[in-house]
Amino acid sequence: SDIPTATLGRVVTYVRVLEELEAQNVQQASSGDLARRAGVTPFQVRKDLTYFGRFGTRGIGYTVAVLRRELLRKLGLDQTWNVVIVGMGRLGHAIANYPGASDYQFRNVGLFDVAPDVVGREVRGLTIQHIGQLGPFVASVAGTPRQVDLGLLTVPAEHAQAAAQALAAAGVGGILNFAPAVLQTQDLLVSTPTGEREVTVENVDFLAGMKRLAFYMLGPQAGPTEET
Ligand code: NAD
Repeated sequence: SDIPTATLGRVVTYVRVLEELEAQNVQQASSGDLARRAGVTPFQVRKDLTYFGRFGTRGIGYTVAVLRRELLRKLGLDQTWNVVIVGMGRLGHAIANYPGASDYQFRNVGLFDVAPDVVGREVRGLTIQHIGQLGPFVASVAGTPRQVDLGLLTVPAEHAQAAAQALAAAGVGGILNFAPAVLQTQDLLVSTPTGEREVTVENVDFLAGMKRLAFYMLGPQAGPTEET
């Protein structure tokens, strides 16, 4: 899609804000209300939402429930995405144990590792399986109406490419990569009903965030600048 990454990031925040408003029984919200809670300008809110359609009425604002439902639908978050975690060390365990990581939109359905002392352990009702079982497991899930869409990659950097390869070979098309390694996506092909394509990778790195923050701490002139 042609939605800028920065816009997508902010729209995910607007959805969270809309959920908070709905929980507080707020039915109408202006772009100013959304902007204040999302930490952006009202102009930015209106501009970002134009990528998703025409919403809201001048002078009245947005109907919270309608805007939330429409954004969720367009973001593909009105359905459940099945998730597997590959690499059940410290980080894999932390994510698998985090209650908010598995809810309506994302559901952990399988946990995988290679270490004999890790395989077989149980985390929140799921037994950690050997990575060699990933292909058959995904195929078994695909046999039901649901399939495995996303993989969280929490293995050491030197094993990231091989583990990503296992995910792609099993048919998992989206990888959230936590390992500090650049995945070579041209080698990570997944078959889809319409042919082969490269897997989609999103990288998460809290240490990179710390490094940016350290730079900004050098002085007030070095604060983050708004990207457009
Ligand atoms: P860890 O050593 O505790 O756990 C790694 C696990 O991966 C081990 O259980 C190991 O047996 C397993 N593993 C190794 N190769 C595998 C393979 N091919 N298939 C399946 N499992 C395999 O490491 P950790 O502290 O949990 O960190 C995991 C990764 O996350 C590291 O790459 C680390 O650098 C990274 N990390 C990222 C962030 C972030 O913000 N992105 C934060 C912390 C750690």
